[in-house]
Amino acid sequence: MSNLLQVHNSLSGKKEVFKSILPKHVGMYVCGPTVYSNVHLGNCRTFISFDLIYRYLIHLGYKVRYVRNITDVGHLENDSDEGEDRISKRARLESIEPMEIVQRYTLDFRRIMRLFNTLSPSIEPTASGHILEQIELIKKLVKNDYAYEINGSVYFDVKKFNQDIPYGKLSGRNIDELIHNSRALDGQNDKKNPQDFALWKKAEPIHIMRWPSPWSDGFPGWHLECTAMSRKYLGTKFDIHGGGMDLKFPHHECEIAQAEGIEKESPVNYWLHTNMLTLNGKKMAKSTGNNILPDEIFDGKNTFFKKAFSPMVIKFFMLQAHYRSMVDISEKALEASEKGYNRLLSALETIEKITPSSKTTGFDVISWKEKCYSSMNDDFNSPLLIGHLFDAVKFINSVKNKKKSISILDLETLKKSIHDFIYNVLGFRISKYSENDTKFEKNKEILELLLEVRNKARDKKDFEISDFIRESLIELKIELNDTGNGTNYEIK
Ligand code: AMP
Ligand code: ZN
Repeated sequence: MSNLLQVHNSLSGKKEVFKSILPKHVGMYVCGPTVYSNVHLGNCRTFISFDLIYRYLIHLGYKVRYVRNITDVGHLENDSDEGEDRISKRARLESIEPMEIVQRYTLDFRRIMRLFNTLSPSIEPTASGHILEQIELIKKLVKNDYAYEINGSVYFDVKKFNQDIPYGKLSGRNIDELIHNSRALDGQNDKKNPQDFALWKKAEPIHIMRWPSPWSDGFPGWHLECTAMSRKYLGTKFDIHGGGMDLKFPHHECEIAQAEGIEKESPVNYWLHTNMLTLNGKKMAKSTGNNILPDEIFDGKNTFFKKAFSPMVIKFFMLQAHYRSMVDISEKALEASEKGYNRLLSALETIEKITPSSKTTGFDVISWKEKCYSSMNDDFNSPLLIGHLFDAVKFINSVKNKKKSISILDLETLKKSIHDFIYNVLGFRISKYSENDTKFEKNKEILELLLEVRNKARDKKDFEISDFIRESLIELKIELNDTGNGTNYEIK
Protein backbone atom coordinates (compact mmCIF):
# COMPACT_ATOMS: atom_id res chain seq x y z
CA MET A 1 0.00 0.00 0.00
CA SER A 2 1.32 3.41 -0.83
CA ASN A 3 0.51 6.99 0.00
CA LEU A 4 1.91 8.19 -3.28
CA LEU A 5 -0.11 7.90 -6.45
CA GLN A 6 1.32 5.22 -8.72
CA VAL A 7 0.21 4.74 -12.31
CA HIS A 8 0.91 1.94 -14.74
CA ASN A 9 2.88 3.42 -17.62
CA SER A 10 2.38 1.41 -20.81
CA LEU A 11 5.66 2.80 -22.13
CA SER A 12 7.76 1.19 -19.37
CA GLY A 13 5.30 -1.62 -18.66
CA LYS A 14 5.61 -0.78 -14.96
CA LYS A 15 3.86 1.07 -12.19
CA GLU A 16 5.59 4.39 -11.57
CA VAL A 17 5.15 7.10 -8.95
CA PHE A 18 3.17 9.90 -10.58
CA LYS A 19 4.94 13.25 -10.68
CA SER A 20 3.36 16.03 -12.67
CA ILE A 21 5.49 18.35 -14.81
CA LEU A 22 4.09 21.41 -13.04
CA PRO A 23 3.34 21.06 -9.33
CA LYS A 24 -0.36 20.46 -8.70
CA HIS A 25 -1.24 20.75 -12.41
CA VAL A 26 -1.94 17.86 -14.78
CA GLY A 27 -2.31 17.88 -18.55
CA MET A 28 -4.24 14.83 -19.75
CA TYR A 29 -5.14 13.93 -23.34
CA VAL A 30 -7.54 11.10 -24.16
CA CYS A 31 -8.41 9.99 -27.69
CA GLY A 32 -12.12 10.61 -28.16
CA PRO A 33 -14.68 8.86 -30.34
CA THR A 34 -14.89 8.79 -34.12
CA VAL A 35 -18.36 10.21 -34.51
CA TYR A 36 -19.73 8.19 -37.42
CA SER A 37 -22.13 6.08 -35.35
CA ASN A 38 -23.43 5.66 -31.78
CA VAL A 39 -20.88 4.79 -29.12
CA HIS A 40 -21.25 1.22 -27.81
CA LEU A 41 -20.75 0.10 -24.22
CA GLY A 42 -17.12 -0.83 -24.92
CA ASN A 43 -16.32 2.74 -25.91
CA CYS A 44 -18.20 3.91 -22.80
CA ARG A 45 -16.03 1.72 -20.60
CA THR A 46 -12.89 3.51 -21.79
CA PHE A 47 -14.40 6.97 -21.22
CA ILE A 48 -15.80 5.98 -17.80
CA SER A 49 -12.32 4.72 -16.82
CA PHE A 50 -10.72 8.03 -17.75
CA ASP A 51 -13.50 9.86 -15.93
CA LEU A 52 -12.49 7.94 -12.78
CA ILE A 53 -8.87 8.97 -13.32
CA TYR A 54 -9.84 12.61 -13.99
CA ARG A 55 -12.09 12.71 -10.91
CA TYR A 56 -9.46 11.18 -8.64
CA LEU A 57 -6.76 13.61 -9.79
CA ILE A 58 -9.16 16.49 -9.09
CA HIS A 59 -10.00 14.95 -5.71
CA LEU A 60 -6.28 14.87 -4.86
CA GLY A 61 -6.19 18.62 -5.47
CA TYR A 62 -4.69 18.74 -8.96
CA LYS A 63 -5.86 21.35 -11.43
CA VAL A 64 -6.42 19.13 -14.44
CA ARG A 65 -6.68 20.23 -18.05
CA TYR A 66 -8.44 17.28 -19.63
CA VAL A 67 -8.49 17.33 -23.43
CA ARG A 68 -10.61 14.73 -25.22
CA ASN A 69 -10.92 15.14 -28.97
CA ILE A 70 -13.70 14.40 -31.39
CA THR A 71 -12.48 12.61 -34.53
CA ASP A 72 -14.59 14.05 -37.30
CA VAL A 73 -12.28 13.51 -40.28
CA GLY A 74 -9.38 11.32 -41.37
CA HIS A 75 -10.25 8.00 -39.67
CA LEU A 76 -10.42 5.60 -42.60
CA GLU A 77 -12.27 2.29 -42.60
CA ASN A 78 -9.00 0.43 -42.23
CA ASP A 79 -6.43 1.58 -39.68
CA SER A 80 -3.69 1.20 -42.29
CA ASP A 81 -4.72 4.23 -44.37
CA GLU A 82 -7.02 2.15 -46.50
CA GLY A 83 -10.64 2.58 -47.48
CA GLU A 84 -13.08 5.43 -47.32
CA ASP A 85 -13.27 8.02 -44.52
CA ARG A 86 -15.76 6.57 -41.99
CA ILE A 87 -17.76 9.79 -41.72
CA SER A 88 -17.80 10.51 -45.46
CA LYS A 89 -19.01 6.98 -46.13
CA ARG A 90 -21.89 7.28 -43.70
CA ALA A 91 -22.82 10.69 -45.15
CA ARG A 92 -22.73 9.28 -48.68
CA LEU A 93 -24.95 6.33 -47.71
CA GLU A 94 -27.50 8.62 -46.04
CA SER A 95 -27.20 11.39 -48.66
CA ILE A 96 -26.51 14.05 -46.05
CA GLU A 97 -23.61 16.36 -45.22
CA PRO A 98 -20.69 14.76 -43.33
CA MET A 99 -21.06 17.48 -40.69
CA GLU A 100 -24.66 16.37 -40.10
CA ILE A 101 -23.31 12.92 -39.24
CA VAL A 102 -20.71 14.53 -36.97
CA GLN A 103 -23.32 16.69 -35.18
CA ARG A 104 -25.76 13.80 -34.68
CA TYR A 105 -23.24 11.45 -33.11
CA THR A 106 -21.35 14.09 -31.13
CA LEU A 107 -24.60 15.14 -29.44
CA ASP A 108 -25.53 11.52 -28.82
CA PHE A 109 -22.11 10.78 -27.34
CA ARG A 110 -22.42 13.73 -24.94
CA ARG A 111 -25.93 12.65 -23.91
CA ILE A 112 -24.70 9.14 -23.10
CA MET A 113 -21.73 10.49 -21.18
CA ARG A 114 -24.12 12.66 -19.12
CA LEU A 115 -26.30 9.62 -18.35
CA PHE A 116 -23.19 7.88 -17.01
CA ASN A 117 -22.54 11.01 -14.95
CA THR A 118 -19.08 11.59 -16.37
CA LEU A 119 -17.57 15.07 -16.19
CA SER A 120 -17.13 17.01 -19.42
CA PRO A 121 -13.52 17.43 -20.49
CA SER A 122 -11.95 20.89 -20.17
CA ILE A 123 -11.54 21.10 -23.95
CA GLU A 124 -13.20 18.95 -26.61
CA PRO A 125 -11.44 19.92 -29.86
CA THR A 126 -12.31 18.55 -33.29
CA ALA A 127 -9.91 17.30 -35.95
CA SER A 128 -11.61 19.38 -38.66
CA GLY A 129 -11.17 22.51 -36.55
CA HIS A 130 -7.38 22.03 -36.48
CA ILE A 131 -6.42 21.54 -40.12
CA LEU A 132 -3.98 24.49 -40.15
CA GLU A 133 -2.13 23.11 -37.11
CA GLN A 134 -1.89 19.72 -38.81
CA ILE A 135 -0.53 21.25 -42.03
CA GLU A 136 2.12 23.09 -39.99
CA LEU A 137 3.23 19.81 -38.39
CA ILE A 138 3.54 18.12 -41.78
CA LYS A 139 5.70 21.00 -43.04
CA LYS A 140 8.03 20.51 -40.05
CA LEU A 141 8.25 16.75 -40.60
CA VAL A 142 8.99 17.24 -44.31
CA LYS A 143 11.69 19.79 -43.38
CA ASN A 144 13.22 17.31 -40.91
CA ASP A 145 13.26 14.71 -43.67
CA TYR A 146 10.90 12.31 -41.85
CA ALA A 147 8.09 12.79 -44.37
CA TYR A 148 7.89 12.74 -48.15
CA GLU A 149 5.34 13.80 -50.74
CA ILE A 150 4.15 11.59 -53.57
CA ASN A 151 1.31 12.50 -55.95
CA GLY A 152 -0.18 15.09 -53.57
CA SER A 153 -0.16 12.81 -50.50
CA VAL A 154 2.42 13.00 -47.71
CA TYR A 155 3.68 9.97 -45.78
CA PHE A 156 5.73 9.54 -42.64
CA ASP A 157 8.98 7.73 -43.44
CA VAL A 158 9.16 5.13 -40.68
CA LYS A 159 12.43 3.56 -41.86
CA LYS A 160 14.22 6.91 -42.04
CA PHE A 161 12.89 7.93 -38.62
CA ASN A 162 14.00 4.63 -37.11
CA GLN A 163 17.58 5.27 -38.22
CA ASP A 164 17.67 8.24 -35.83
CA ILE A 165 15.10 7.41 -33.14
CA PRO A 166 13.78 3.92 -32.35
CA TYR A 167 10.24 3.28 -33.63
CA GLY A 168 7.94 0.82 -31.82
CA LYS A 169 8.70 1.70 -28.18
CA LEU A 170 5.10 1.64 -27.01
CA SER A 171 3.77 -1.43 -28.78
CA GLY A 172 7.06 -3.34 -28.61
CA ARG A 173 7.01 -3.86 -32.36
CA ASN A 174 10.29 -4.20 -34.09
CA ILE A 175 10.71 -2.32 -37.35
CA ASP A 176 12.22 -5.29 -39.20
CA GLU A 177 9.28 -7.43 -38.17
CA LEU A 178 6.90 -4.71 -39.30
CA ILE A 179 8.55 -4.43 -42.69
CA HIS A 180 8.47 -8.19 -43.06
CA ASN A 181 4.83 -8.55 -42.02
CA SER A 182 3.36 -5.57 -43.87
CA ARG A 183 1.61 -6.35 -47.07
CA ALA A 184 1.15 -3.82 -49.82
CA LEU A 185 -2.49 -2.79 -49.61
CA ASP A 186 -4.54 -1.47 -52.47
CA GLY A 187 -4.16 2.26 -52.79
CA GLN A 188 -0.88 2.24 -50.89
CA ASN A 189 1.37 1.87 -53.90
CA ASP A 190 2.44 5.46 -53.43
CA LYS A 191 4.22 4.69 -50.18
CA LYS A 192 7.96 4.03 -50.24
CA ASN A 193 7.44 1.29 -47.66
CA PRO A 194 4.20 -0.36 -46.52
CA GLN A 195 4.80 0.52 -42.84
CA ASP A 196 4.84 4.25 -43.65
CA PHE A 197 1.65 6.07 -42.65
CA ALA A 198 -0.30 8.92 -44.18
CA LEU A 199 0.03 12.45 -42.83
CA TRP A 200 -1.94 14.00 -45.69
CA LYS A 201 -4.09 12.29 -48.31
CA LYS A 202 -4.98 13.79 -51.64
CA ALA A 203 -8.77 13.74 -51.96
CA GLU A 204 -10.42 11.92 -54.83
CA PRO A 205 -12.81 14.15 -56.85
CA ILE A 206 -15.89 12.66 -55.07
CA HIS A 207 -14.45 13.21 -51.58
CA ILE A 208 -16.42 16.05 -49.92
CA MET A 209 -14.26 16.64 -46.84
CA ARG A 210 -11.25 18.42 -48.31
CA TRP A 211 -9.01 21.35 -47.52
CA PRO A 212 -6.33 23.17 -49.51
CA SER A 213 -2.72 22.44 -48.58
CA PRO A 214 0.73 22.95 -50.14
CA TRP A 215 0.52 19.37 -51.49
CA SER A 216 -3.06 18.96 -52.72
CA ASP A 217 -6.70 19.49 -51.84
CA GLY A 218 -7.08 16.73 -49.32
CA PHE A 219 -7.45 15.72 -45.70
CA PRO A 220 -5.15 14.82 -42.78
CA GLY A 221 -4.18 11.30 -41.73
CA TRP A 222 -5.85 9.95 -38.59
CA HIS A 223 -2.81 9.94 -36.27
CA LEU A 224 -1.90 13.55 -36.92
CA GLU A 225 -4.91 15.21 -35.29
CA CYS A 226 -4.02 14.00 -31.78
CA THR A 227 -0.43 15.22 -32.09
CA ALA A 228 -1.67 18.62 -33.30
CA MET A 229 -4.36 19.08 -30.66
CA SER A 230 -2.37 17.75 -27.69
CA ARG A 231 0.55 20.08 -28.56
CA LYS A 232 -1.76 23.03 -29.00
CA TYR A 233 -3.61 22.67 -25.69
CA LEU A 234 -1.11 20.86 -23.46
CA GLY A 235 2.28 21.78 -24.91
CA THR A 236 5.05 19.71 -26.51
CA LYS A 237 5.48 17.70 -23.32
CA PHE A 238 2.57 16.76 -21.09
CA ASP A 239 1.70 14.38 -18.27
CA ILE A 240 -0.85 11.75 -19.33
CA HIS A 241 -2.02 10.38 -22.67
CA GLY A 242 -4.74 7.76 -22.66
CA GLY A 243 -6.99 5.61 -24.78
CA GLY A 244 -8.11 2.03 -25.20
CA MET A 245 -5.44 -0.66 -25.55
CA ASP A 246 -6.37 -1.21 -29.17
CA LEU A 247 -5.06 2.29 -29.93
CA LYS A 248 -1.48 1.47 -28.86
CA PHE A 249 -0.68 0.39 -32.37
CA PRO A 250 -0.70 1.99 -34.84
CA HIS A 251 -2.36 5.15 -33.50
CA HIS A 252 -0.30 5.96 -30.40
CA GLU A 253 2.93 4.58 -31.82
CA CYS A 254 2.52 6.93 -34.78
CA GLU A 255 1.68 9.84 -32.47
CA ILE A 256 4.97 9.29 -30.64
CA ALA A 257 6.91 9.14 -33.92
CA GLN A 258 5.28 12.34 -35.20
CA ALA A 259 6.07 14.28 -32.02
CA GLU A 260 9.59 12.89 -31.74
CA GLY A 261 10.17 13.65 -35.40
CA ILE A 262 9.77 17.30 -34.50
CA GLU A 263 10.95 17.67 -30.90
CA LYS A 264 13.38 14.71 -30.76
CA GLU A 265 12.00 13.76 -27.39
CA SER A 266 9.06 11.82 -26.04
CA PRO A 267 5.87 13.94 -25.89
CA VAL A 268 4.21 12.18 -22.94
CA ASN A 269 5.38 11.12 -19.47
CA TYR A 270 2.71 8.50 -18.71
CA TRP A 271 0.79 6.46 -21.29
CA LEU A 272 -2.36 4.89 -19.78
CA HIS A 273 -4.36 2.24 -21.63
CA THR A 274 -7.71 0.73 -20.71
CA ASN A 275 -8.56 -2.88 -21.36
CA MET A 276 -11.48 -4.05 -23.45
CA LEU A 277 -15.08 -4.77 -22.57
CA THR A 278 -16.07 -8.09 -24.08
CA LEU A 279 -19.43 -9.65 -24.87
CA ASN A 280 -19.65 -13.43 -25.05
CA GLY A 281 -15.87 -13.47 -24.64
CA LYS A 282 -15.21 -11.34 -27.71
CA LYS A 283 -14.19 -7.69 -27.90
CA MET A 284 -17.15 -5.37 -28.25
CA ALA A 285 -16.71 -3.64 -31.58
CA LYS A 286 -18.73 -1.65 -34.05
CA SER A 287 -17.39 -3.49 -37.06
CA THR A 288 -18.30 -7.05 -35.97
CA GLY A 289 -21.80 -6.33 -34.66
CA ASN A 290 -20.76 -7.85 -31.32
CA ASN A 291 -21.91 -4.85 -29.32
CA ILE A 292 -24.72 -3.31 -27.30
CA LEU A 293 -25.62 0.35 -27.42
CA PRO A 294 -26.18 2.08 -24.08
CA ASP A 295 -29.83 2.90 -24.91
CA GLU A 296 -30.50 -0.74 -25.80
CA ILE A 297 -29.42 -1.86 -22.35
CA PHE A 298 -31.18 1.01 -20.51
CA ASP A 299 -34.52 0.12 -22.07
CA GLY A 300 -33.90 -3.64 -22.17
CA LYS A 301 -34.47 -3.82 -25.93
CA ASN A 302 -31.53 -5.90 -27.07
CA THR A 303 -30.96 -9.44 -28.22
CA PHE A 304 -28.46 -10.28 -25.45
CA PHE A 305 -30.22 -9.62 -22.11
CA LYS A 306 -33.84 -9.96 -20.99
CA LYS A 307 -33.67 -7.32 -18.29
CA ALA A 308 -32.99 -3.56 -18.49
CA PHE A 309 -30.20 -2.04 -16.40
CA SER A 310 -29.75 1.59 -15.35
CA PRO A 311 -26.68 3.67 -16.26
CA MET A 312 -25.46 3.69 -12.65
CA VAL A 313 -25.67 -0.11 -12.36
CA ILE A 314 -23.69 -0.52 -15.58
CA LYS A 315 -21.14 1.99 -14.36
CA PHE A 316 -20.91 0.13 -11.04
CA PHE A 317 -20.35 -3.13 -12.95
CA MET A 318 -17.55 -1.52 -14.97
CA LEU A 319 -15.83 0.03 -11.94
CA GLN A 320 -15.92 -3.31 -10.14
CA ALA A 321 -13.16 -4.33 -12.56
CA HIS A 322 -9.76 -2.66 -12.73
CA TYR A 323 -9.41 -0.47 -15.81
CA ARG A 324 -6.49 -2.59 -17.06
CA SER A 325 -8.37 -5.90 -16.78
CA MET A 326 -10.56 -7.32 -19.47
CA VAL A 327 -14.18 -7.65 -18.39
CA ASP A 328 -17.00 -9.65 -19.90
CA ILE A 329 -20.51 -8.23 -19.65
CA SER A 330 -23.30 -10.71 -18.96
CA GLU A 331 -26.80 -10.62 -17.51
CA LYS A 332 -25.68 -12.58 -14.45
CA ALA A 333 -22.80 -10.21 -13.74
CA LEU A 334 -25.06 -7.18 -14.17
CA GLU A 335 -27.66 -8.65 -11.81
CA ALA A 336 -24.96 -9.16 -9.18
CA SER A 337 -23.81 -5.55 -9.68
CA GLU A 338 -27.38 -4.32 -9.32
CA LYS A 339 -27.68 -6.07 -5.96
CA GLY A 340 -24.34 -4.68 -4.79
CA TYR A 341 -25.17 -1.19 -5.95
CA ASN A 342 -28.52 -1.25 -4.14
CA ARG A 343 -26.80 -2.44 -0.96
CA LEU A 344 -24.48 0.57 -1.22
CA LEU A 345 -27.46 2.89 -1.73
CA SER A 346 -29.32 1.59 1.29
CA ALA A 347 -26.21 1.96 3.46
CA LEU A 348 -26.16 5.64 2.45
CA GLU A 349 -29.69 5.98 3.82
CA THR A 350 -28.88 3.96 6.95
CA ILE A 351 -25.83 6.05 7.83
CA GLU A 352 -28.02 9.18 8.01
CA LYS A 353 -30.17 7.53 10.68
CA ILE A 354 -27.35 6.27 12.91
CA THR A 355 -27.09 7.62 16.45
CA PRO A 356 -23.48 7.98 17.59
CA SER A 357 -22.22 6.55 20.89
CA SER A 358 -19.38 7.57 23.18
CA LYS A 359 -16.86 5.35 21.37
CA THR A 360 -16.32 3.24 18.27
CA THR A 361 -16.17 -0.52 18.59
CA GLY A 362 -15.13 -3.13 16.03
CA PHE A 363 -13.97 -0.81 13.21
CA ASP A 364 -11.01 1.48 12.75
CA VAL A 365 -12.36 4.36 10.65
CA ILE A 366 -9.00 6.09 10.17
CA SER A 367 -7.19 3.02 8.91
CA TRP A 368 -10.22 2.15 6.73
CA LYS A 369 -9.99 5.61 5.13
CA GLU A 370 -6.25 5.12 4.54
CA LYS A 371 -6.96 1.80 2.85
CA CYS A 372 -9.46 3.49 0.53
CA TYR A 373 -6.85 6.05 -0.53
CA SER A 374 -4.16 3.40 -0.88
CA SER A 375 -6.32 1.41 -3.25
CA MET A 376 -6.94 4.42 -5.48
CA ASN A 377 -3.26 5.40 -5.24
CA ASP A 378 -2.43 1.94 -6.52
CA ASP A 379 -3.11 2.72 -10.19
CA PHE A 380 -6.75 3.75 -9.59
CA ASN A 381 -7.81 0.38 -8.20
CA SER A 382 -11.56 0.94 -8.09
CA PRO A 383 -12.51 -2.74 -7.38
CA LEU A 384 -10.36 -2.65 -4.26
CA LEU A 385 -11.93 0.66 -3.22
CA ILE A 386 -15.43 -0.79 -3.73
CA GLY A 387 -14.40 -3.76 -1.55
CA HIS A 388 -13.43 -1.34 1.23
CA LEU A 389 -16.72 0.52 0.82
CA PHE A 390 -18.51 -2.78 1.41
CA ASP A 391 -16.52 -3.29 4.63
CA ALA A 392 -17.94 0.05 5.75
CA VAL A 393 -21.46 -1.02 4.66
CA LYS A 394 -21.17 -4.14 6.82
CA PHE A 395 -20.07 -2.02 9.78
CA ILE A 396 -22.86 0.54 9.25
CA ASN A 397 -25.42 -2.27 9.26
CA SER A 398 -24.03 -3.75 12.47
CA VAL A 399 -24.17 -0.29 14.12
CA LYS A 400 -27.80 -0.08 13.02
CA ASN A 401 -28.41 -3.52 14.59
CA LYS A 402 -26.72 -2.32 17.80
CA LYS A 403 -24.00 -4.96 17.50
CA LYS A 404 -21.32 -2.29 17.13
CA SER A 405 -21.05 1.41 17.91
CA ILE A 406 -19.51 4.56 16.45
CA SER A 407 -18.34 7.83 18.02
CA ILE A 408 -19.58 11.17 16.74
CA LEU A 409 -16.17 12.08 15.30
CA ASP A 410 -15.77 8.74 13.52
CA LEU A 411 -19.31 9.00 12.20
CA GLU A 412 -18.53 12.38 10.63
CA THR A 413 -15.30 11.04 9.07
CA LEU A 414 -17.05 7.92 7.77
CA LYS A 415 -19.92 9.91 6.25
CA LYS A 416 -17.64 12.44 4.58
CA SER A 417 -15.30 9.76 3.16
CA ILE A 418 -18.12 7.56 1.88
CA HIS A 419 -19.69 10.56 0.18
CA ASP A 420 -16.36 11.64 -1.30
CA PHE A 421 -15.65 8.21 -2.74
CA ILE A 422 -19.13 7.45 -4.00
CA TYR A 423 -20.05 10.81 -5.49
CA ASN A 424 -16.78 12.59 -6.27
CA VAL A 425 -14.34 9.79 -7.06
CA LEU A 426 -16.44 6.95 -8.48
CA GLY A 427 -18.87 9.50 -9.86
CA PHE A 428 -22.22 7.90 -8.98
CA ARG A 429 -25.25 10.10 -9.13
CA ILE A 430 -27.54 9.02 -6.39
CA SER A 431 -30.79 10.86 -6.40
CA LYS A 432 -34.39 9.88 -6.49
CA TYR A 433 -33.90 9.54 -10.24
CA SER A 434 -30.75 7.42 -10.10
CA GLU A 435 -32.40 4.09 -10.81
CA ASN A 436 -34.42 5.57 -13.60
CA ASP A 437 -32.05 7.91 -15.37
CA THR A 438 -33.36 7.20 -18.83
CA LYS A 439 -36.95 7.62 -17.68
CA PHE A 440 -35.94 10.92 -16.09
CA GLU A 441 -34.33 12.05 -19.37
CA LYS A 442 -37.46 11.04 -21.28
CA ASN A 443 -39.72 12.83 -18.79
CA LYS A 444 -37.63 15.95 -19.20
CA GLU A 445 -37.96 15.74 -22.97
CA ILE A 446 -41.75 15.31 -22.64
CA LEU A 447 -41.96 18.29 -20.27
CA GLU A 448 -39.98 20.44 -22.68
CA LEU A 449 -42.29 19.37 -25.49
CA LEU A 450 -45.28 20.39 -23.38
CA LEU A 451 -43.73 23.81 -22.78
CA GLU A 452 -43.22 24.21 -26.52
CA VAL A 453 -46.90 23.36 -27.15
CA ARG A 454 -47.90 25.89 -24.48
CA ASN A 455 -45.71 28.58 -26.08
CA LYS A 456 -47.30 27.90 -29.47
CA ALA A 457 -50.74 28.23 -27.87
CA ARG A 458 -49.73 31.53 -26.21
CA ASP A 459 -48.37 32.84 -29.53
CA LYS A 460 -51.81 32.18 -31.01
CA LYS A 461 -53.43 33.77 -27.95
CA ASP A 462 -55.06 30.46 -27.11
CA PHE A 463 -55.01 31.08 -23.35
CA GLU A 464 -57.47 28.31 -22.62
CA ILE A 465 -54.90 25.70 -23.72
CA SER A 466 -51.91 27.48 -22.22
CA ASP A 467 -53.63 27.91 -18.83
CA PHE A 468 -54.83 24.31 -18.92
CA ILE A 469 -51.22 23.13 -19.34
CA ARG A 470 -49.97 25.40 -16.54
CA GLU A 471 -52.69 24.31 -14.09
CA SER A 472 -52.35 20.63 -14.92
CA LEU A 473 -48.62 20.84 -14.29
CA ILE A 474 -49.20 22.56 -10.92
CA GLU A 475 -51.26 19.54 -9.93
CA LEU A 476 -48.20 17.42 -10.76
CA LYS A 477 -46.12 19.76 -8.56
CA ILE A 478 -44.36 21.39 -11.51
CA GLU A 479 -44.46 25.18 -11.42
CA LEU A 480 -43.91 27.32 -14.50
CA ASN A 481 -42.35 30.79 -14.44
CA ASP A 482 -42.70 32.94 -17.53
CA THR A 483 -39.72 35.29 -17.90
CA GLY A 484 -38.48 37.65 -20.61
CA ASN A 485 -36.12 34.89 -21.75
CA GLY A 486 -38.71 32.13 -21.95
CA THR A 487 -40.39 29.78 -19.51
CA ASN A 488 -38.59 28.04 -16.64
CA TYR A 489 -39.95 25.20 -14.60
CA GLU A 490 -39.40 24.09 -11.07
CA ILE A 491 -40.17 20.62 -9.73
CA LYS A 492 -41.56 21.09 -6.22
P1 AMP B 1 -13.33 4.76 -31.60
O1 AMP B 1 -14.54 5.64 -31.67
O2 AMP B 1 -13.47 3.48 -32.36
O3 AMP B 1 -12.07 5.51 -31.99
O4 AMP B 1 -13.14 4.30 -30.07
C1 AMP B 1 -13.20 5.19 -28.99
C2 AMP B 1 -12.50 4.60 -27.79
O5 AMP B 1 -13.15 3.40 -27.35
C3 AMP B 1 -11.03 4.20 -28.06
O6 AMP B 1 -10.22 4.62 -26.96
C4 AMP B 1 -11.08 2.70 -28.13
O7 AMP B 1 -9.87 2.12 -27.73
C5 AMP B 1 -12.18 2.39 -27.13
N1 AMP B 1 -12.80 1.06 -27.33
C6 AMP B 1 -13.23 0.51 -28.48
N2 AMP B 1 -13.76 -0.73 -28.26
C7 AMP B 1 -13.67 -0.95 -26.94
C8 AMP B 1 -14.03 -2.04 -26.08
N3 AMP B 1 -14.62 -3.13 -26.55
N4 AMP B 1 -13.77 -1.92 -24.75
C9 AMP B 1 -13.18 -0.80 -24.24
N5 AMP B 1 -12.82 0.26 -25.00
C10 AMP B 1 -13.06 0.19 -26.33
ZN1 ZN C 1 -5.90 9.88 -30.81
